[in-house]
Amino acid sequence: MSKHSDEMQQDSFSDHVGMADWQRMASDINAVDENSVAQALTKSRANQRLSLDDFKALISPAAAPYLEYMAAESQRLTQQRFGKTIQLFVPLYLSNMCSNICTYCGFSMENKIRRTTLNVEQIRAEAQAIRAKGFEHVLIVTGESERKVGIEYFEQALGVLKEYFSHIAMEVQPLKEDEYRRLHQFGVEAILVYQETYHREKYAKYHLKGKKSDFDYRLQTPERVGRAGINKVGLGCLLGLEDWRTDAFYVAKQLRFLEKQFWSMKFSLAFPRLRPCEGGGEVNSPMSERELVQLICAYRIFNQQVELSLSTRESAVFRNNMMALGITSMSAESKTQPGGYANDDKSLEQFSIDDNRSVDEVAQMITDKGYQVVWKDWQQGLVS
Ligand code: SF4
Repeated sequence: MSKHSDEMQQDSFSDHVGMADWQRMASDINAVDENSVAQALTKSRANQRLSLDDFKALISPAAAPYLEYMAAESQRLTQQRFGKTIQLFVPLYLSNMCSNICTYCGFSMENKIRRTTLNVEQIRAEAQAIRAKGFEHVLIVTGESERKVGIEYFEQALGVLKEYFSHIAMEVQPLKEDEYRRLHQFGVEAILVYQETYHREKYAKYHLKGKKSDFDYRLQTPERVGRAGINKVGLGCLLGLEDWRTDAFYVAKQLRFLEKQFWSMKFSLAFPRLRPCEGGGEVNSPMSERELVQLICAYRIFNQQVELSLSTRESAVFRNNMMALGITSMSAESKTQPGGYANDDKSLEQFSIDDNRSVDEVAQMITDKGYQVVWKDWQQGLVS
């Protein structure tokens, strides 16, 4: 395993992810019986902390007949912790430059698409367009090109964006610990970094070139973020690449590992399913909507504090139905191409989205269901 100097000090989650473990986990999950599912749900009803084995039971095929019960339990626990609120955010794509080849992504270096990186004036135009829609929370997204969109570029962009938004999260390439410290000083409150798959061998098959092919460096990123003092980290895997149950289990295991190491940090989880994009991208392990509901409910029953985020990759109908069953934040009116809010040029987009409603329509749907829209990240006093 590769080791980088700034993560030598302590136990790392990457030491807990081996090939033998993956195979064992996959067969353990498939072998779970209904008794274990019932036991996990009984513990939840008694407000006891669930173990990773309980989580395994909840995502197993044996839990499928319990879906209705799981949904009710997930709703109960979410309302208890977060009230009837949904936070709205929007991704702001600053660049589609990328030095990696990832087989499932429209921004992959080998794809012959037009590349662009927003300059300061363009960033300001995007910020104004997004702010005019009511958003106070923005998620900055870029491809992974250290040369074109490195720390100096980010600092320049943040200098502008701070004028418009009260909460800024980032989903960019993994950075060094001292770079995360610099971002924190520029007002970044959260870093999202998805492992895509925790299957070591298959990871290499999907990440053919560039820095992203270093499995361990990516996996250790949340630990560098935590040590740098950033308050929140988002985890997840790309559902559809490998067996979703095993990947989802590793996400839960990493979450629990990080909670122990960084007890004051907040965490969020996302559930991106593979979407069509430029250059293709095969869905090797399809996941049905019913299975996605099962997974979302399982995460909530396993962990009551974690924020669960659902993007516009999913359909309007699915998002409407899931809103009350465990989700705490949603994106709305997303554009996945740089400059997309001020100038909607689809030839630059990373992937196509499924829920094309305007932010007003999404906000109205949330209100109609008796929920309150939260326009910026959670604050003390907004939650009971
Ligand atoms: S997934 Fe990220 S790193 Fe990979 S090609 Fe797309 S933008 Fe680049």
